[in-house]
This record gives sequence, C-alpha cells and structure tokens, in this order.
Amino acid sequence: MARPTAKSADAPEHTPLMKQFFAAKSDYPDLLLFFRMGDFYELFYDDARKAARLLDITLTQRGSSGGAPIPMAGVPVHAYEGYLARLVALGESVAICEQIGDPALAKGLVERKVVRIVTPGTVTDEALLDERRDTLLMAVARGRSGYGLAWADLAGGRFLVNEVENADQLEAELARLEPAELLVPDEDGWPPLVAGALRRRPPWLFDPDSGRRQLLRFFGLHDLTGFGIEDKPLAVAAAGALLGYVEETQKQRLPHLTSIAVETAGEAIAMNAATRRHLELDTRVDGQTRHTLLGVLDSTVTPMGGRLLRRWLHRPLRDRGVLGGRHHAVATLIERGADADLRERFRGLGDVERILTRVALRSARPRDLSTLRDGLAMLPALRQVLAPLDSPRLAALAAEMGQHDETAHLLAGAVAPQPPLKLADGGVIAEGYDAELDELRRLSTHADQFLVDLEARERESSGIATLKVGYNRVHGYYIEISKGQADKAPVHYTRRQTLTGAERYITEELKAFEDKVLSARERSLAREKFLYEALLDELDLRLEPLKRCAAALSELDVLASFAERAQALDWSRPELVESPCLRIERGRHPVVEAVREEPFEPNDLVLHADGGDNPDVPPRRMLVITGPNMGGKSTYMRQNALIVLLAHIGSFVPAARAQIGPIDRILTRIGAGDDLARGQSTFMVEMAETSYILHHATAQSLVLMDEIGRGTSTYDGLALADAVAGHLATVNRCWTLFATHYFELTALATPESGIANVHLDAVEHHDKNGGDTLVFMHAVKDGAADRSFGLQVAALAGLPNATLAQARRRLAELEQRGRQTHAAQMAPQALDAPQQFGLFAAAPSAAQEALAAIDPDELTPKQALEALYRLKALL
Ligand code: ADP
Repeated sequence: MARPTAKSADAPEHTPLMKQFFAAKSDYPDLLLFFRMGDFYELFYDDARKAARLLDITLTQRGSSGGAPIPMAGVPVHAYEGYLARLVALGESVAICEQIGDPALAKGLVERKVVRIVTPGTVTDEALLDERRDTLLMAVARGRSGYGLAWADLAGGRFLVNEVENADQLEAELARLEPAELLVPDEDGWPPLVAGALRRRPPWLFDPDSGRRQLLRFFGLHDLTGFGIEDKPLAVAAAGALLGYVEETQKQRLPHLTSIAVETAGEAIAMNAATRRHLELDTRVDGQTRHTLLGVLDSTVTPMGGRLLRRWLHRPLRDRGVLGGRHHAVATLIERGADADLRERFRGLGDVERILTRVALRSARPRDLSTLRDGLAMLPALRQVLAPLDSPRLAALAAEMGQHDETAHLLAGAVAPQPPLKLADGGVIAEGYDAELDELRRLSTHADQFLVDLEARERESSGIATLKVGYNRVHGYYIEISKGQADKAPVHYTRRQTLTGAERYITEELKAFEDKVLSARERSLAREKFLYEALLDELDLRLEPLKRCAAALSELDVLASFAERAQALDWSRPELVESPCLRIERGRHPVVEAVREEPFEPNDLVLHADGGDNPDVPPRRMLVITGPNMGGKSTYMRQNALIVLLAHIGSFVPAARAQIGPIDRILTRIGAGDDLARGQSTFMVEMAETSYILHHATAQSLVLMDEIGRGTSTYDGLALADAVAGHLATVNRCWTLFATHYFELTALATPESGIANVHLDAVEHHDKNGGDTLVFMHAVKDGAADRSFGLQVAALAGLPNATLAQARRRLAELEQRGRQTHAAQMAPQALDAPQQFGLFAAAPSAAQEALAAIDPDELTPKQALEALYRLKALL
C-alpha cells in the first residue's frame, strides 16, 4: 500500500487536521515536524517512524485519513526539550508547529503555524547546548583558489571567516572547529567532510556577489571594508550562505551578531586532523574525554571560560607578544596569590556570554537576569583584586571588563532576589521597582487575608465548623460544605459545583471579590511582562560593552585556571626564545603523569640548529629514539609536543625549564587504533600521513614519527623509514623525534647530519625461581639502544615458555644470517618504495636517473647500500 505523503494533501478524503499537517509539512520536507495538539507535540507518517526509532518512543496510530491509518508518535509538551536535545545531537532538525489561536474560541480547527526551527548548528536554548563546548554552524564555499569558510557560534554571538588553499587545510579546520552543522553547495567532488550534520544546499547560494549583498543587508552597511574581507571572495560567499540559512531558520533578527572577524592561518600553529587526534587534546582515540590534555588542564570555573580554553587549545598562537602577555599574567597571579581569590569570585558568575545572547534574542529567562545581576555585582570586587597586579594583560582585561555600575544598579532594583523560573509565574520584578505593579500586587496579596477572614465569618454565621473557602482554576473561588452539612447552607449561597462528598457554593460577596482579584492578578502579570520587555530593551542598548565584559571575564577565568594548574601540578613558565632550538629540562607528560600511580620519570630534550654561542657544536635537529616496546618512546615524543603546544596557548608547562624557538607547525605520524575504524588500511593511512608531513614540514616545524614502516613487511618498512628520516633531516630540516624499532636507522646519526641517537632502557631481573622480569627505566639516554627486549616483553605478556625458547633459537639464527643478506635486500626496496608512494614527487631529475641506472639484481650488499646513500644525498 502506498504511503500517504505530502503530495496527497489534496486528496479529498484526508481529514481537515491532516490537511493542516500536510500544509505545514510541505514547507519543511526534510525536517521533523512537531505538530502541537493540546499537551503533546505529535509527529505523523515518516516523521513518526523516524522519531520512534531515534527517541525510542512508541509508534501508534491515530484513526485514519486518506483511507489509511495514520502512524503517529508524540512527546509531551512539558518534557519536549529533552527529546529535542537528543534529536539535535543526532544531527536532526525540527520545525515546531504551534497552535496559534485559542482552542476555546476557535470555530472548527485551531490555527497552527511553524514558529520555530531548531537545527544542530543554530540552537541557542540553554537546554539544548553543551555548556563547555561551542556549537558551531559552518558554511564552506569552493573556488579555484581553495575554500572559503564561515562559522558562527550563535549562542555566543561570534561570527568568523577564513580561507584555506586546499583540501588538507580544509580537513584540518573541520577537525579543529568540529561544526555541529555544515552547509556545502550540492555539487560533486568534495573531499570527505566530517560534521555533526551535513546539509547540501543549492550551489547558487554560495555565490560571492550575492554573499556580499547578503552581508551588507544583514549588517546594514554600505561596504565591507571595516571587516577586512573584500579581498576574500570565497569567505564572503561562505558567510553569505551561512547568513541565508540562519535567516531562513531563525525567523527573527539576530542583533547579537554585530561583526565578522577574519582568522588568518599564519597566526596559529598549524595542526592537521591527524595531529589533533594523535595528541588527544580533548578526546582520546577511544572517544573518552577524561584522560586528555583538556581534562588535566581545565580548571576553569565558568562555562564560558571552559569554552574559551578549548578554543585556545585547538588554536595555539604564534604571536609571541600575546603569549608573553599571558605567561606574564599567569606568573603575576601566582606571585601575588591572586588566582584563588579570582576563582572564588568566579563561582557566582554564571554564563554571562550566553545570557547576553538570550537577552538579544529576547529569550532570556528571569533567572538569566538574576544571574547577570549577581555577576555584575561582583565586578567591583574583581577590579579590586586586579588593581594592584602589575601585568599589562590583566590591566587590559580589567579595562575591557568595564564598570557597568548603572546596569548593575538597574538589575538590582528591577529583578526580584529569587525570581521564579518563568515570567508567567509572576514575581519576577522586584518590589518597589514600579508603583503600578506594587499596587496591583497589593490587591491580589491582600486577597489571602480577605479569604481567611471570610472563612471565619461564614463559619460563624452558618454554624458549620468544617466550612472551607477554596479556589480552583476552572470554577474560581468557592465555599465548600460537606454533603452531610449541606442542608445547613444559608439561602444566599448559590451552588457552583457538586462533588461526591461535598457541595461548593458562591456568594455575591465572593464573586465580587473574585472579579477584582482575578483582574488584578492578570493586570499585574501583564504589567510585569511589559516591565520585563522594557528591561530587556534597556540591556540591549548596553549589549556591546557587556559582551566585551563577558569576553574579559572568560579570559581572566582561563588565566586564573592556568595559574591554579601551574601550582597544583608544579609546572613552570616557558621561555619563548628567538634562536632556533627546543630545550626542555625534566619534561613530563601531563596526562600520563596524572593517570599513573607511580612517579613519572622526567626527561630532557635538546634540539638546536647550531651550537648557539659555540660554533663547534654540530646541529641537532633529529633524535632517532630506540628502545623496547613499552619503554616510553611515544610518551616521550608526545610530552614534548604537548609542552610546545601548552607554551603556545599561554599556559605554563610540565617541565623544570623550557626554551622554545619559533614553531610554525606540529605534525605527527603515530599509529593509532582509529585507522581501521576510519575504513582505510593502516598502511595507506600511515603513508598518506607521512606524505603530508614530508610536503609540509619546515625548519620551524615539530614532527613526531612513531614506528614508521610498521604497517608493511620488514624490508619495505625499514627502507621507507630510512628514506623518510633522511628526507626529514636533509630536505625539511625540521625538529624531528623519530621513534623506531629498526636499529639500522641508528646509523644515520653522524655529526654533520643533525641526527642524534637516544634510547630508553629496560633492565632484566632474574628472580630466584628462574623467571625473568623486565623493569622499564623510562629514562631517555644518549646513544642507541643495544637490544630490543622484544622477547622479554613477549614473556611479560604471558607467551608460553616453549614458544619463547623457540623464538630465541630462531632469533639467533636470523641474526647470524640476516646481517649478510639484509643490506642486499633492503637497497632495491628502498629505491622503489619512495617512488611507489609518491613521497618524493619533486625528486630532482638526477635522482631519477640514478635510480634508473641501478640494476637491483646485480648489486652486492655493499654496492646496494652505497647506491642508497648516494641517492639520498641527491635527494
Ligand atoms: P613505547 O612507545 O616505547 O612502547 P610508551 O610511551 O607507550 O612506550 O610507554 C608505555 C608506558 O610506560 C606508558 O603507558 C606509561 O605508563 C609508562 N611510561 C612511559 N614513560 C614514562 C615515564 N617517563 N615515567 C613513568 N612512566 C612512563
């Protein structure tokens, strides 16, 4: 049987209600339509099926229409926000269709209208947002020169754009920003796009010219010079597409989006998607968030501070002026012991940033205003804490924070000390703020006393001791007498309602009173609503300085959090130096240290382009790191990257001392369990990431390579690892930490190569029962490891003794034979592999010729090795 669809709306046999539904639905075919019916939002047909599946609610049927039963599912209005939040989190958008008319007055059907559209990237309701994470809507436009990106944080009132040159950079930006909803032109040929919800939109919406017009109209401007985006047509195109979508879905003005900021790629340390994943900044490869850098680092008090910190962590800066300012501010807070004081006060602050958005959107609730009031009341105390501190950044933030005495005063006078949740409950506006309101309230509160008196009087005169005066919503005020006593009711009592055990009456006096009170109550609620709106208007006028204040408070929260962490975890202030070097003394891995119960073994890192003052010291740009599995190689590599990153967001670092020269990128190739989950072969991923690194690393980049070559056969792997290390050392000349289990690579370390060996150690213990145990030292030492302890680690893992014995015999044999044939087999592969994987696409022609001239079959091992190194020199 054919399912009824929106097209069947005209079919005569549909009920009037279903016709109304189809009419509303036809405007929003891709959205779930919440159709208000009394105390429920109902969904019908395919929407009902989908909602039932996604929300695990019952799919029922409601009569029939168009000759078929109507599938239906519903959520109660009083609890709908929870359901909405789940749908939005799953990437669904919802159109909310309300009853417009009063059902009591309507002849026939109540009028209904879609009043609100909720999409994953445009939500601003508190209940639908993650408190400590930005919810972003993003649009991407595409052109010959690359991609234009625009993203908006509607709940925070931020709107940004930038342009990137290629798909790799686009992927990096998507990984950084993680948009909840992504708009792209509906065309083929997009690279893989990751987002909460992907919306393909008509391509003509992404046109630079109409984007420009859209922006001018939205911001009410004559030109875009002020935003600095005239020379960025793709960014303008994306921004226009984004605004179009926002206007389409929000059905209201967005006065809190007041400008566009441009982000320039060069301002930040570049990290691609893989690096963000591998370093586990805020999410672990297994999806957990607890044991991550953010988990350890974030002790911010306010949600807005938490969001800013996350933003900072994903965008480490290169501007040493800004960073120095932050480091100095943190140091000052620590020295003067001011961080605890600040943080204590922040506890009462609340999410000022998002509250201001709700003020602008007219969706602020009474408690928002009382929170804002309490926050503003805190400012003088905060200023007092900051005033004596000698830090330019803190002083600037105190200035940005501003005074706001007048606003604080206004709110203090206007909002009740503990307002109710909803405006409609009444009692939001404080006593003494408005004479008219006070008068109306007096009328209705005196009611209580009047009723008590009336009850006493009526008992007395009727002689019925159990007589009660009460109120209900339908029948209003009444006098209640139990059935047994009802015959004693005075004659002037008029019966209003009969219950099983009682009769209810009304009197002239009570009726007159009721009219007066009810109208007073109604008028007082209306008056409150009016005053509340006027208050929002007042606040609206002060929105800009208040937003700056919120931004300053967020940053203060983050800086105070840095100070707190530095002291609690014994971190130190990094030195950002001009000379090209990375010198870290007694560095630690912040997350491993936090998670481990035993003490963490600190390790140094020394890398430099030259010897600095001493020209005789050879450069040291790459460390080849060897040592047993589980020895601590990856921990060591990552901790150094994390220290560099922390220094570039303004934080102190887990090291006794850190001197860090200019850094432009952090690039990593670290084997991770997620490769397979992403549906690509491990080896392909490994090569793609390696290739990206070889193409992008500069002399200012920090590169981590973990066990490259592991994904293929030994000789392929060794050959590749060798070639890649050579390329990084001689062509990229970047700062490289290269962990490997190929001992052959330790031969690369020669004085002039800039490559040095370090290793991690383990010691074997023979216990008296004849068993062996292995103790990992976790200390990084100069020189190459002399053995891999592979079999010992295997023993630790519980491999049977017989198997281990066999493995030992086999190892001895292999070592004997292997050394002879190894080189011969390695060379040809090494020559092939880089070509195969396009690692050296730009290899000079001399190298190509050299390659062609070599006949692998004719080579002796020695010649092969020589050929390999000759080739590398050429490359
Ligand atoms: P590898 O990369 O050499 O296989 P890992 O870096 O994964 O080794 O380290 C294995 C484990 O050893 C880590 O999970 C951690 O618990 C511990 N570890 C590593 N480095 C240290 C250290 N410096 N101090 C203390 N424990 C460490």
